[in-house]
Amino acid sequence: MKDRYNREISYMRLSVTDLCNLKCKYCMPDGCINHTVPLSFEEMFDICKCAVDLGINKIRITGGEPLIREGIVEFCDKLSSIKNLKELTLTTNGVLLKDKADALKQAGVSRINISLDTLKRDKFRDITGFDKLTDVMYGIKVAEKLGFEQLKINVVLMNNYNIDEISDFVELTKNSSISVRFIELMPIGNCFNYNSQYISADVVLKKEPELKLIDFKGVAQIYQKNGYKGTIGLIRPLSDKFCDICNRIRITSDGKLKTCLHSSEEYDLRGLKGDDLRRKFIEAIINKPDSHTLTETCFSKTTRYMNEIGG
Ligand code: SAM
Ligand code: SF4
Repeated sequence: MKDRYNREISYMRLSVTDLCNLKCKYCMPDGCINHTVPLSFEEMFDICKCAVDLGINKIRITGGEPLIREGIVEFCDKLSSIKNLKELTLTTNGVLLKDKADALKQAGVSRINISLDTLKRDKFRDITGFDKLTDVMYGIKVAEKLGFEQLKINVVLMNNYNIDEISDFVELTKNSSISVRFIELMPIGNCFNYNSQYISADVVLKKEPELKLIDFKGVAQIYQKNGYKGTIGLIRPLSDKFCDICNRIRITSDGKLKTCLHSSEEYDLRGLKGDDLRRKFIEAIINKPDSHTLTETCFSKTTRYMNEIGG
């Protein structure tokens, strides 16, 4: 289905919980302070089915941390059976991945993105509040071994924090077909010293001048170093905003449909079924805002924290 700006809306991100087993400084520094009762998996399934009927062909499961919700594997299994859903993917912090990756693959999850902002144990503990880097690295290895398509590592760029590790992340792509994607920090929720920590993704190209632009995939600009197996993606919501090609909508764990990450506009889907649900979806998609105003205002109009929305 198209919105009023003629954008084909085909991608939905579904947050299955706002809770998490980490406390990243830029996402939920104080823990989950606005915890809400999540929709049941049955309600989420009805929403996904309706979305697919309206033209969504890719669903990404997110959170909070999606792998902490009990029944997540069975839910993925049910979702992947929806006719016309082409792709079921998942974003995780990787802590529980080593034990769940195999079952997720069997359940029809074809791709996994893992969020990881540092390769150093002390820094990992500092940013996330937990000493779990070893589990995440092990989870990545297991997922690689299982042959998930296009495994991605998402790194949020933070000035004075992980800029010195850009080359280490690039090196991960030397012998592995993994994709490392650097994402600009966004001013959302109670974000970790946004003004001093934000840095444009240009810094990656400054540190790694040998990177060559080879492609554009969705919202990511794809680079590669000569002879390397994997790729580097730059996602620049601020320094090069991509609203004109935005094809996504989001469902929060408590059942609010958001058509723009940074808008305060939400459509409550809880309790809706059949034609009522379908009508609400259509109304929301048609009215998707043309763009965010982060670049101009430096703040997000959403009052939610990232763990509630799912990134
Ligand atoms: N817990 C899972 C994880 O960390 O991958 C899924 C949810 S998390 C909210 C989804 C993504 O949002 C992560 O890649 C995280 O780094 C990103 N994120 C959270 N806060 C952000 C911010 N202020 N700016 C940019 N990305 C952010
Ligand atoms: Fe949890 Fe992901 Fe937020 Fe970190 S970014 S606190 S892992 S939801």
